[in-house]
Amino acid sequence: MMDIIVALYQTVVSLFLFLYQEIYGFLHMDGILELFVYAKKGDFSSLQTWDGITSLLRQIWGIIFFLEVTGLLIKRKFKIGEDYRMPFFISLFNSLIGRYISIGVIAYCIGLCSPYAIFKAESSWYIFIYGYIVWEFAYYVYHWSSHNVRILWCLHSVHHAPKTMNLSVSGVRFFLELTYLFAVNVTICILLGVPPVILAIIMSIDSIWGEMLHIGDNFLPNARFGFLGKLIITPSHHRVHHARNPLYLDTNYCVLLNVWDRLFGSYQPEEDDIKIEYGISREMNSDSFLDVYFGEILDLCKDIIYAPTLKHKLLYIIMPPGWNHTGDHKTASMERQRFLDARQQEHREANFQTVSQERSANEESISTI
Ligand SMILES: [Zn+2]
Ligand SMILES: [Zn+2]
Repeated sequence: MMDIIVALYQTVVSLFLFLYQEIYGFLHMDGILELFVYAKKGDFSSLQTWDGITSLLRQIWGIIFFLEVTGLLIKRKFKIGEDYRMPFFISLFNSLIGRYISIGVIAYCIGLCSPYAIFKAESSWYIFIYGYIVWEFAYYVYHWSSHNVRILWCLHSVHHAPKTMNLSVSGVRFFLELTYLFAVNVTICILLGVPPVILAIIMSIDSIWGEMLHIGDNFLPNARFGFLGKLIITPSHHRVHHARNPLYLDTNYCVLLNVWDRLFGSYQPEEDDIKIEYGISREMNSDSFLDVYFGEILDLCKDIIYAPTLKHKLLYIIMPPGWNHTGDHKTASMERQRFLDARQQEHREANFQTVSQERSANEESISTI
C-alpha cells in the first residue's frame, strides 16, 4: 500500500514539475531570468559563443513576450482565453508527444542522406550562404506542399487557426508537422551538400527568426521594417501569410530570404487598404482544441468516405484543399486569382472612365473655342 502511495506521490510531483516547466518555457521566462543572472554577475562572456548569442536572443524574445502581454493588459485587450489558452494547450500537447520525434528524424535523415550528397563541402562563409539559400528552398518545398496537398494541410492548418497574432502562435502546431518539416528540409539540404554543422547553425537562426515573425501587431503595429523589408521576410510578410483575405492567400512561404517567393510568384507585401483577417477559411470554433487540432482531418475523412470512386478518394488526399470531385473547386489559388482579376477589371474600368471624362472635357473645351 505504501508503495502505491509513494508511486502516486512521485507521479503527481513529476506532473506538477512538467506543467511548471511548460508554463515557464511558454512564457519565455528562462530567457528573462537568465538575463537577470548575467546582469547580477556582470559577466557577459558567454555571449561571445554561438550558444550564448542564441540564448541572448531567447532572452530578448522573453522580454518582447512580457511587453506584448503587458501592452495588451494596459490597453485592456488581453484575452487569455482567446489569444493564449489554445497556443498553451497545443504547446503542452506537442511537448507530451512530439518532443523527441523531431530530433530522431533529423539524425536519421543526416545518416541516411549523407552518402548520397552531390558534393562534400568544408564549412566556410560562402558555403554558409549557399546553405541558407538551399535551406530556404527546402523550406519553400515543405511550406508550399503543406498548403497545397490536403493531407499535409491537415497538419499545417493548426498553425493557421489562431485569429490573432502574438509570439505564442509560433508554437501552435500539429505535433507531427515539425517531423515532416525536418524530414523534407534536412533531406534536401544534406543531398545538396550542406554540411551538418552549417545546417545546425542555419536551423537555429531559422527557429529564432521564425519565432520573431509572429510578434504581435498590438506590440508592433507596423512591422514592415522599411527598406530591409524589400530584402528579407518581415513579421508584416508573415502576417500576410497568416491572413485569410483572398489577396493574401497562399503567399510568403519563406522565413528569412524572400528569394524563392519572388522567383515562384508567391511574394505579397501587406497593403494599407486591406486589413489582415487572421485564421483559416473554414468555419471553425477557435476555442475548441478538438476542432483546431482535428477539424481538418475530420473534414478530409468525410470527403474520402463520400467520394464516389477510389480515384476520387485518393485525389482528395493529395489535391489542394478546396478541390472537389464534382469540379466545383474552391481552392485558395483560385480565390486569389478571382480577386486579382476583379481588381484588374476595376482598374481597367476606372482608367476607361478617366479617359472618357478627359476626352469629353477636351471636346467641350474645343467646342467652346
Ligand atoms: Zn503556412
Ligand atoms: Zn506562422
